[in-house]
Amino acid sequence: MEDLDVESSRGFGRYPPIVKRRDRLPVPPNLHDYDAVCRDFSWEGAGALLSGLPGGGLNIAFEAVDRHARGARAEAVALRFLAADGGRREMTFRQLGEETSRFANLLESLGIRPGERVFVLAGRIPELYIAVLGALKARALVCPLFSAFGPEPLLTRMQLGDARVLVTTGPLYRRKAAALRAQLPGLAQVILAGPEAAPAEPGVLAWDAALAGQSAEYEIGPTAAEDPALLHFTSGTTGRPKGALHVHRAVLTHCVTGRYVLDLHDDDVFWCTADPGWVTGMSYGIIAPLALGVISVVVEAEFDAGEWSRILREERISVWYTAPTAIRMMMKLGDALAGQEFPRLRFLASVGEPLNPEAVVWSSRVFGQPFHDNWWQTETGGIMIANFAGETVKPGSMGRPIPGVEAALVRRLADGGVEPVAGADAQGELALRRGWPSLMVDYLNEHQRYLNCFAGDWYLTGDLARRDADGYYWFVGRADDLIKSSGHLIGPFEVESALLEHPAVAEAGVIGMPDPVAGEVVKAFVALRPGRVADDALRRELLGHARKRLGAAVAPKEIAFRDNLPKTRSGKILRRLLRARELGLPEGDLSTLESDER
Ligand code: ATP
Ligand code: MG
Repeated sequence: MEDLDVESSRGFGRYPPIVKRRDRLPVPPNLHDYDAVCRDFSWEGAGALLSGLPGGGLNIAFEAVDRHARGARAEAVALRFLAADGGRREMTFRQLGEETSRFANLLESLGIRPGERVFVLAGRIPELYIAVLGALKARALVCPLFSAFGPEPLLTRMQLGDARVLVTTGPLYRRKAAALRAQLPGLAQVILAGPEAAPAEPGVLAWDAALAGQSAEYEIGPTAAEDPALLHFTSGTTGRPKGALHVHRAVLTHCVTGRYVLDLHDDDVFWCTADPGWVTGMSYGIIAPLALGVISVVVEAEFDAGEWSRILREERISVWYTAPTAIRMMMKLGDALAGQEFPRLRFLASVGEPLNPEAVVWSSRVFGQPFHDNWWQTETGGIMIANFAGETVKPGSMGRPIPGVEAALVRRLADGGVEPVAGADAQGELALRRGWPSLMVDYLNEHQRYLNCFAGDWYLTGDLARRDADGYYWFVGRADDLIKSSGHLIGPFEVESALLEHPAVAEAGVIGMPDPVAGEVVKAFVALRPGRVADDALRRELLGHARKRLGAAVAPKEIAFRDNLPKTRSGKILRRLLRARELGLPEGDLSTLESDER
């Protein structure tokens, strides 16, 4: 990586920090004092959050389900499903224990052995949650597939992952998976969730019939903390998705971050909007809240701003974990939400993409709470850098490392090593010292690529960040997305954030375009809020606004209007695709592109 020290303090802390009065918070935060907790923290000590298997060893499903099903929380509601058709179903820990045991028994009766791969492809329906946790009980390796994937991304992932079992629904199977079976000789069994009668096809079972005869008792077999548990494919934002392999030990990170970052308390009602097809939906939509014995609301329907605000209110959500795209879509509504009351909502967190400071300030106004941005990756298996409930929030910053994780900013050296980039405001590649429990243990079938992620003890994230004098990290961009223009290094996020401050702008994506003089020049793609007209006057206004905010060297030279920006299925802006389309280059792997963007 080249010299990254230039232009380092633009936009830094432009919005005043939001200082928390701990005595005014609705509940005392679990992380009562950041410095004190970090000082005293050890992962060994944190192990007290877990029970461990009765005979020794560690299994995610035991921590998330069985220990509660057999304990004081047996009759507490674990999951509340809000179906797309308006139906409601609650499942207690005891019921979840029984259902998942039936599923584990089913897998055993089908001859599925520990380590074999169970893929799940379904919307947010109860059977998906039962299958995931039941398969973990049976010590299978679970791999979620996003239900909106088309046949091709499904095939590549199931081939790569050597799928033995697929749990899906009848309609999804017929539409997407049935035709792939000839190419998946290892796929022994398909189980169709939902009200399907037993299909005539060999190797296909109907859920109800298959589970009916199974016992609701199941003792989890010996599981080592290092046994594989989950296979997660990355979002494919920068290229072909990678399969990150995670082990049962990861549940400790989920518990610690559920407590300290999401600030989950026993009587919370938690809503993680991420789909379990992705690592956030699996780690925080399923594992973390269950392991901590906290009720989760699961919403089957897709995003709808009005509906979401109703759910927040009527389901009395107290802790909400969502993503910038959804937040910006809610912001598009303007202040229509402002008159509404969200009496129980007390903690808001965001992940997946940089959260522009405007969104933090907006949520303080509308929800009476700032969004707490946090940062992590599929590879890290859990939240690594975060803004905490009881700590000062700096709008635009992703916060500080969680207790037990040491972060640094480094520069890569030619010999494969790294050196730290020192000083307040220094900028470099974000690196994390290995030693936390949920770090991936390999990339599936790409071991060398996995090894390349490390320099000594440091895991290199591929993201660039800055750190201020208080130790807060500020996302600059992915190393690949950095724009080099007339000797300046420009992170797309700060340009996008500046554009998002303008009331006409709903979404912004910024790329570097080749330029014979400057090397690269900044080009912005902008989607407008409803009612705003994309014309030259507005273009000039936006260019002027950006120049005033960022200076001429950093502001975009060109702005193009788009109805929508291309995004991954998980809602991330695909800058590489904006660039490829602009330059007429090959579009690369599009398997995770939102279909309506194609
Ligand atoms: P791929 O690795 O396939 O290109 P991806 O990196 O988008 O896809 P994920 O693991 O889902 O796949 O996303 C992690 C990345 O998302 C991070 O490396 C970072 O670039 C971005 N990200 C996540 N949270 C934040 C955040 N709070 N602020 C800024 N960026 C974030
Ligand atoms: Mg990545």
